[in-house]
Amino acid sequence: MSKVLVIFGTRPEAIKLFPVIRALAATPGLTVRTCVTAQHRGLLDQVLAIADLAPDIDLDLMEPGQTLDRLTARLLTGLGDVMDAESPDLVVVQGDTATAMTGALAAYYRKVPVAHVEAGLRSGNIYQPWPEEVNRRIVAPIAALHFAPTETAADALRRETIAPETIHVTGNTVIDALHWTVDRVAADPALAAGLDEIAARFAGKRIVLVTTHRRENFGDGMAAIARAIGRIAERDDVAVLFPVHPNPNVVSVMDQILGKRANVARIQPLDYPHFVRALGLADIVLTDSGGVQEEAPALGKPVLVMRETTERPEGVAAGTAKLIGTDEDRIVSEIFTLLDDHAAYAAMARAHNPFGDGHAAARIAEIIAKTTAHNIAQSTAKGIVAHAV
Ligand code: UDP
Repeated sequence: MSKVLVIFGTRPEAIKLFPVIRALAATPGLTVRTCVTAQHRGLLDQVLAIADLAPDIDLDLMEPGQTLDRLTARLLTGLGDVMDAESPDLVVVQGDTATAMTGALAAYYRKVPVAHVEAGLRSGNIYQPWPEEVNRRIVAPIAALHFAPTETAADALRRETIAPETIHVTGNTVIDALHWTVDRVAADPALAAGLDEIAARFAGKRIVLVTTHRRENFGDGMAAIARAIGRIAERDDVAVLFPVHPNPNVVSVMDQILGKRANVARIQPLDYPHFVRALGLADIVLTDSGGVQEEAPALGKPVLVMRETTERPEGVAAGTAKLIGTDEDRIVSEIFTLLDDHAAYAAMARAHNPFGDGHAAARIAEIIAKTTAHNIAQSTAKGIVAHAV
């Protein structure tokens, strides 16, 4: 039996790892342990509840107003203690959070191999997204297994001289999570019934779904986004559905600049089934999120990305996503073009899956099972040789 320790701390990591945890748990020869750092407590718990995940270890490390250096220090020591207690054969981390970066580093300090899910995403700019671009670059030289969602991501790793035989193109596990959730909501609409009232209120209007939380958009960018949403919502034929990220840098700006408006439903963050339903209701998605850039194309929703660069160029290449930055006039004019120009809308609104086919988690579990079995066989053989000598 090989012991696999899966570590995560935020909403996107939980969404992208729950299919992996299920697949690992169903794989013979593996014992799976889960550790949450709860770097983002409330948003993480929403996913744990929906995915029926009860973590084995909960470090509960979130502090109000946490700085990056304090958070990093606490994560590193907390995760190191967990690894000393658990002695895993392999540690799995996902993406580009402080949890992923410190999880990989703590494993490295103990010479425990690391598997990186969603490896190889690169924007080429260490401040966009910040600090995620550096977090994921730190994981790369440490990881023994790199699960790249796309060929573009695999290429980026090869360019960084990561050994090609350790890179596996699996698709992004977010598509697994999305398919699973779409099916569950279809079978049991009560799971997303909290949006019934908003859906009825906005019936007949074109719906723009907005999410924003990127650190590099805090300040001027967030103020411009708030003003743009206000202008978009002045149109009678449009409604804005806006689950607001709880970060005070987002909430306070939206309170001050956007305020209350008839055509804007400014609501609490949605749990995943409700958010998946919101994506289904939306005509256009306006976001600076990473995961939403991957989900919207799978559902054929045009997605305008309020960032200057993206580490997910596949959606842009496929024509479903467009990078528009955070200039107020640009946001308004791009939204109005999609609302008024049918050809422009039709060109972007095509469902396709540049990010995966929904079977990434099964591939990942299979590769992990083979690799850990191989490693254990090798170390056992070495042990026998050592005794013989
Ligand atoms: N999401 C959610 N509820 C919301 C907003 C987003 O469940 O109210 C999901 C979304 O579907 C995606 C993930 O959260 O899978 C993205 O998380 P976030 O934007 O916080 O992080 P990023 O992907 O930018 O790292």
